[in-house]
Amino acid sequence: MQRFASAREAALTLRPDQPVYCFRPHVLIKDADRFMKMFPGETAYAVKTNGEDLVLDTLARNGVSTFDVASPGEFAAVRKVAPNAQMLYMHPIKAQSDIRLALETYGIRVLAVDHEDEIAKITRIVRALDIDPASITLYVRLQTKGHAAYELSKKFGAAPAHAIELLQRSDKIGYKVGLCFHVGSQIEDPDTYENALRSADWVRNRAGVPLAGLDIGGGFPAEYGNDPKRKHVEMPSLGQLMSRLRGDIKEYGFGDLPLVAEPGRVIVARAFSLIVRVLLRKGRRLYINDGIWASLSDSWTGKITLPARFIPDPAKKLRHGDVEEIVPFRVCGATCDSVDILSRPFWLPATVETGDWIEIGHIGAYSLSLRTRFNGFYPDTFVEVGTAFDEGSEPEGFASLETMAPPQ
Ligand SMILES: *Cc1c(COP(=O)(O)O)cnc(C)c1O
Repeated sequence: MQRFASAREAALTLRPDQPVYCFRPHVLIKDADRFMKMFPGETAYAVKTNGEDLVLDTLARNGVSTFDVASPGEFAAVRKVAPNAQMLYMHPIKAQSDIRLALETYGIRVLAVDHEDEIAKITRIVRALDIDPASITLYVRLQTKGHAAYELSKKFGAAPAHAIELLQRSDKIGYKVGLCFHVGSQIEDPDTYENALRSADWVRNRAGVPLAGLDIGGGFPAEYGNDPKRKHVEMPSLGQLMSRLRGDIKEYGFGDLPLVAEPGRVIVARAFSLIVRVLLRKGRRLYINDGIWASLSDSWTGKITLPARFIPDPAKKLRHGDVEEIVPFRVCGATCDSVDILSRPFWLPATVETGDWIEIGHIGAYSLSLRTRFNGFYPDTFVEVGTAFDEGSEPEGFASLETMAPPQ
């Protein structure tokens, strides 16, 4: 992989027409390390956030030894770069054949459930393979309520009374049992984890079975940009969240249990930025070489504002407007699809022109992992960059990637 001091240097050297991912291994290592130091338990990186080989490999070589996986593709990706890593199969609803593959081929012994029929599916295979249930930990996934940019509690999780039954049923078969929850992604309210812990405490106190562990899932927010045109929402910092969480864990009496967290976004977001090129400027519209079917699909669901740095093409001598004036541009993606228009503008210097580049920062989470081959566009160029996005010149603008609205 080619190495550059900054994305600006990469853009001006390579003059890329295709989107380029700028990978910062030192930032990834730092953010993973920071999380592991703050969290009083096992850190299981959530592979779905960004399952690139270079991410998994960097994490595995720098202290991450447990991975949260959900599919055969993720088992294989982890096994390939980290043959000795432990995998937690935390998807509550699994194909029968995938359960078999996990238990038989990958030696996975930790799985999540949120329904009795899932326990039955797992037990059928455990019996067929003659595995001792006591070597397996089933985590019962609890439903949670709270505020996150992405809510998942509507889809997965057992209500508290149901969770009690599932714990007792699993215990009776001979499994070790634990409780888990996942509060959603990019949580905004520091009470979120406490609410989930309170619910877990309620379930534990009534289940009357020994717990082997508590898995608090992911959801820890990453740092993004602020859209100065909108109300500023103060996000809790990771330090604040963690110190509150450590207190709550003690208060609800989970301090002596083995703990697991499944962070994704907070570990990988800052490790990548993306260089895109302006293929054409039409008035206040920019047509760029990426879009919602590639790296920018987070814009469908999130309420996230990404910082953006303007990288003007020095070959362009004649420019109009004032570089100090930051104005909104409507951004159209690379595909021929008419929905491939970002719902929120990018704010950039008024002088941006056809041929210029834009570096979009903090894009490591749910970008590369969600890109498609739609229309034949598939960004897949990587360079390594030596300085963090936040170092060096301040980003002038921001790429506002909020909820998709119908294009106007
Ligand atoms: C997606 C997911 C995660 C990671 O969530 P982040 O918000 O990226 O930290 C963790 N656990 C489960 C079960 C998930 O589905």
